[in-house]
Amino acid sequence: AKAKGLAEYQFYDEVLHEKTMDMLRLETDLRKGVERGEFVLEYQPIVSLQTCEIAGFETLVRWQHPERGIISPEIFIPIAEKTGSIIKLGDWILYEGCCQMKQWLEKIPANRQLFININVSGKQFIQPDFIAKFKETLSQTGLPGSYLKIEMTESVLMKNVDQLNNILSQIKALGVRIALDDFGTGYSSLSYLHKFPIDVLKIDRSFVVQMGARNEKDLVSIIISIAKNMKMDVVAEGIETAAQFKRLHSYDCQYGQGFLFSKPLRTKEAENLIMGTDIK
Ligand code: C2E
Ligand code: CA
Ligand code: CA
Ligand code: CA
Repeated sequence: AKAKGLAEYQFYDEVLHEKTMDMLRLETDLRKGVERGEFVLEYQPIVSLQTCEIAGFETLVRWQHPERGIISPEIFIPIAEKTGSIIKLGDWILYEGCCQMKQWLEKIPANRQLFININVSGKQFIQPDFIAKFKETLSQTGLPGSYLKIEMTESVLMKNVDQLNNILSQIKALGVRIALDDFGTGYSSLSYLHKFPIDVLKIDRSFVVQMGARNEKDLVSIIISIAKNMKMDVVAEGIETAAQFKRLHSYDCQYGQGFLFSKPLRTKEAENLIMGTDIK
């Protein structure tokens, strides 16, 4: 029994060692990957729940690893944030997303509304030169700020209130709007909503999934009424079923996003969808 115990111990130790090595390898690969441009953006439609038309897109980054294939952002974004690679990567994401949106703007009819949402990590916000780089990206790509929404998570709100407000007001002065991502999953309290100039609440998928599970008014409808009171738009995330869609529609939720409408798409597919050349 003793021998087996030792063998087991060695086995787990090896697994642990493997995992550590794997992480270290990913960290190095990530740094190189950013230099080599191994990343690609996908665009997931954000749909108006009243008209079922595409109102905008959220950009979602993917890593095309030379040996491992596509790696999910759930895996590499936390590593990039930890190692600092997120700064360069985030700069590229912002540039690429704005550039793509600018190209689409030139193709769509002038009366067609469309916006692009880009995720910005808290680590990026607190860089001293974030605003300077942000302005430069808008001017280089030629995208008017009013077409852009920045998605940030509640964790950013935990930072210094004055400092963050200063950054957000400079962003907003460019016509860019602010969306609070994964709303309800972080540790922030509702009082934070008053302290920051937030334009859009994105209700996390976990609340959408729970919807209708109980008879009482669900959290989603409560969040929607809070947002309405505060003159914020609402996007419900992770809509997968027609029942969820119907319920959200009855709550008068403005926007929805989820596999029911579309998965995240590559540039060409997304373009076909807005230009209406795709079977819908
Ligand atoms: P997120 O910002 O909350 O993005 C939404 C995630 O939900 C995406 O996963 C999307 O593919 C997925 N999703 C959309 N509709 C559905 C649905 O109906 N059902 C389910 N089960 N999932 C759905 P993805 O692309 O794997 O991204 C995961 C997370 O990685 C993002 O969560 C975000 O936190 C981070 N991320 C992705 N792209 C970026 C980026 O460009 N910058 C930063 N900083 N983070 C990013
Ligand atoms: Ca997001
Ligand atoms: Ca989200
Ligand atoms: Ca999320």
